[in-house]
Amino acid sequence: MRRLLLTLVLLILWPGAWAWGEETVRIAIAEGVSRVALSGKGLQVRLLAEGERYADAKGGKSEVVHQKDGMYLDGARVTSPDGVRYRSEAIVQVSGKPVRGQIEVRPNGRGKLVAINVVPLEAYLHAVLGSEMPAYFPPEALKAQAVAARTYALQKKIAAWGKPYHLGSTVLHQVYGGTRAEDPRTKIAVDATRGEVLTHQMDLVEAYFHSSCGGQTESGSAALGRPLSYLKPVKCPCPDIAPVNWEKTFSAKQMAKLMKGLKDARIVEKTATGRANRIELRSGKTKKTISGVEFRQTLGYGELRSLFFQISKKGGAFTVKGKGFGHGAGMCQWGARRLAEKGKSYREILSHYYTGTEVMRIY
Ligand SMILES: [Zn+2]
Repeated sequence: MRRLLLTLVLLILWPGAWAWGEETVRIAIAEGVSRVALSGKGLQVRLLAEGERYADAKGGKSEVVHQKDGMYLDGARVTSPDGVRYRSEAIVQVSGKPVRGQIEVRPNGRGKLVAINVVPLEAYLHAVLGSEMPAYFPPEALKAQAVAARTYALQKKIAAWGKPYHLGSTVLHQVYGGTRAEDPRTKIAVDATRGEVLTHQMDLVEAYFHSSCGGQTESGSAALGRPLSYLKPVKCPCPDIAPVNWEKTFSAKQMAKLMKGLKDARIVEKTATGRANRIELRSGKTKKTISGVEFRQTLGYGELRSLFFQISKKGGAFTVKGKGFGHGAGMCQWGARRLAEKGKSYREILSHYYTGTEVMRIY
């Protein structure tokens, strides 16, 4: 309840909401860089300070550089400690990434710059959706993804309240490729669900999602240490259509990242859904037990696609056979696709994966 109220207050009070007439999010699109180059038709720039006015950037091009003694805008020292703000009616290229909305370039407090795209939430979703789910997935699956992504972004905005930006642009948050990833099909899904978020007892849901679960999703507590009642394991039809089975052989050298001279690795404890929870590592007389999450992190999220696996040893190498891709909590994207193909609506898909939640329209 507290957070939803916060959201509503935020919608009314957030300065961007006045300027844009709509909800915005602030995405860090380049962090820790020494130089940011911008170009775009009708590009204008001003200092981030009270009473400053926009001026045209010469030839629609501009550059901010951080040197030892501070920030420089097109060769002139920036006098505002907060940096500068750009706007344009059209798409702006920011160090090669095409974005909409406004861009702030600020000092990051560690002698470098951060470029922040201040973008209307709905435009951000047009871009994010194409990066998170294939645009050829059925419309109801895309709509479910749109609601989950909107909920996720708003929640991050509230959590980062008062900070210069709310979200990064990599897989750590939601992958943001700027306007490059926009697609008419994802735009339709975003527009059809405009302002809709997923709630549980009047609170915004932590709308985690993943590529494929392998047949059953994982609980929030086992997958992510988030013991939330709506992140319960549920049956999933993704194996009907998704390439869920995988196999990967790790060499002795790769396995040594877990423990020097590793001789044996075995699952000693499973979660309620059968995923690896604790793994015992042995090297000679040394033995230690690590969590499945740490095991996957060390070997690489892309290499070890999920925790739904079995390990076998041959010579010095270890073969891991598993199912699914991702942490397994919340909505399974391939499962959402399958449910949509079977005629389920996006609301039914969401309530399948997020138990006891409901869709609410907040603007
Ligand atoms: Zn699934």
